[in-house]
Amino acid sequence: MHHMASNREGEPVPEPGKERKLIGDRGDFFLNRVQGEAGVNISACYQCERCTNACPVSHYMDIKPHQAMRYIQLGWREELLKSSTIWVCLSCEMCTTYCPNEVDVAETINHLRNMAVHSSITPKDKSLAIFHQTFLEVLITSGKVNEFRLMSAYYSKPNILKEKMKEGTLKEEILLGMALLRKGRLKLYTPRSRAIKELQKADNQIRGEIV
Ligand code: SF4
Ligand code: SF4
Repeated sequence: MHHMASNREGEPVPEPGKERKLIGDRGDFFLNRVQGEAGVNISACYQCERCTNACPVSHYMDIKPHQAMRYIQLGWREELLKSSTIWVCLSCEMCTTYCPNEVDVAETINHLRNMAVHSSITPKDKSLAIFHQTFLEVLITSGKVNEFRLMSAYYSKPNILKEKMKEGTLKEEILLGMALLRKGRLKLYTPRSRAIKELQKADNQIRGEIV
């Protein structure tokens, strides 16, 4: 367990080179807002980390699921809305299932993603946000997601492939894709879903179109 250094008065001091961060730069405003809007009792989280241990993709997240709950309690909005976490999350709900306090972590992360979309905050990893957007586009046009269709749609987005090669993250993403495939989360062949009409209708409604 890591202990923060303290000065002669016994007050905690930040580690050298690390900026001291104030708790709740907006007081409880952010916590109350997320709890109210998502309907999740985030205050109940006591950092047992079961959610993170249950998450199949936590390895790819910069802020782990249990940390995300803590960040909300502390009011660290910007860090969360910029994070890769909200775009990596698969909404598989393993975290929620394993939480002993019935904190709906999956719903909370889903809510943060929606907040990020409606905010002016630029994601730290823009390509992940584009990946997510592409995922939704493929879902809307074909009803389900076939990973080959998804990957080709994704890599045909402007500059994505070039960026990936430059950052050297292409290999990491292929590994993530393989891990998901093994877990059966991505299907090699996906027949066009009968639900497609419903999805398109919902998408039109979200966009404010009259259907
Ligand atoms: S819903 Fe998201 S955070 Fe929760 S276990 Fe699944 S991928 Fe991880
Ligand atoms: S499992 Fe529940 S209580 Fe434990 S860290 Fe995750 S959200 Fe918090």
